[in-house]
Amino acid sequence: MKLEERISAARLWAAYNYPYLASALFALRFVADEKVADIAGDEYFRVYINDEASLDWSVDLLGVEMIHQVGHLLRGHASRAREVELREEDLFRWVDAVDAELNDDLQESDPLPKDSASHEDLSLPRSLFGEEYFFMGSTRTEKHRDCGSSAHGNPRPWDEPPPERSTDGVTAEEKELIKRRVASDALAHERNHGATPSGMLRWANSLLAAKVDWRSELGAKLRQGISEIAGAVDFSYRRPNRRYSFLPGVVLPSLRSRTPEVSIVLDTSASMSEELLGQALSEIDGFLSNGGIRFESVQIFTCDSQAGSPQRVRRASELQLVGGGGTDLTQGISAAVSARPSPDLLVVVTDGWTTWPQSPLPRSRAVAVLIGDNPPSTPEWLQRVVVNESLDGKRGWNLK
Ligand SMILES: [Zn+2]
Repeated sequence: MKLEERISAARLWAAYNYPYLASALFALRFVADEKVADIAGDEYFRVYINDEASLDWSVDLLGVEMIHQVGHLLRGHASRAREVELREEDLFRWVDAVDAELNDDLQESDPLPKDSASHEDLSLPRSLFGEEYFFMGSTRTEKHRDCGSSAHGNPRPWDEPPPERSTDGVTAEEKELIKRRVASDALAHERNHGATPSGMLRWANSLLAAKVDWRSELGAKLRQGISEIAGAVDFSYRRPNRRYSFLPGVVLPSLRSRTPEVSIVLDTSASMSEELLGQALSEIDGFLSNGGIRFESVQIFTCDSQAGSPQRVRRASELQLVGGGGTDLTQGISAAVSARPSPDLLVVVTDGWTTWPQSPLPRSRAVAVLIGDNPPSTPEWLQRVVVNESLDGKRGWNLK
């Protein structure tokens, strides 16, 4: 069989047996290269393979090698090697350690990748991290293996230069997307079928837990907006300053702080993910009430290609989400800033695929809450928080 055919067969085998890895497996790009002993990867999802040396490999062995390379990439073994400041002389020990971490997760009936170490080879129990195998494990002398810079980050003679176009390999940004996709696929696989390997689950959970970040970022931006306004002195003429009230015929302004006015513009065009929209709204609701602002005091404008009339509701779930067509949020933003009272803080919740006003809003601080994995850029005057991936139903991020 020709190399291309062997690769397709092995990739299908791998995706069938490890379905949650499919997005990573299909992002791999193969390069035939005789400089490689048999197979090695780099950090850009490129796998270099020696055609002749791999000629008699079974489909499942080549499939396992692919799963193995994907494992190094997903778990960031190259950057973890940089963190431990790996020296070239420790390179084989490192590869053995991270290989053992990956091999713990292989199904029992599968072959081990060629010459790669298991936890037993390093005289340690299974399910440890690569770093633990590296610092505590015994050293294997009889065999070793170089999986490529995908495993340790040290450049190899066969490595192609970093990709400039997406057809040359996977960029850092795409890599993040693939990692997230695989992590959520692994958790979904566990929910639906069970039997997802424990190392994989540990990795997926920790990767996705880090994404709680958007909530703290959103919270920080909203808190900042609210506290600046609430703490700001307002030279209000509405309440005469008593000290000077003896001055006949003169009303001097008094200093007072006030509760900020908040408005929300909600993109209700067809492209929005309702689940994420619900989560974002519920977060905003929570942060506002912590800041002493009741949700029902917030004016909410739905907008697709036109702005809806303002709504005030007690909770996010009472909103009438009208819309569904194309998107032109300048309509909704203009309706929100010209409404009375005009907002001090304007929160725009959208997937970002819209036109924006060209210049900053004259009286309002604005925060764009961008829903989805890869939102487009936004104007400089607008603060942005990216909300991606809904996760745990457990914590009740749904519409209240
Ligand atoms: Zn390896």
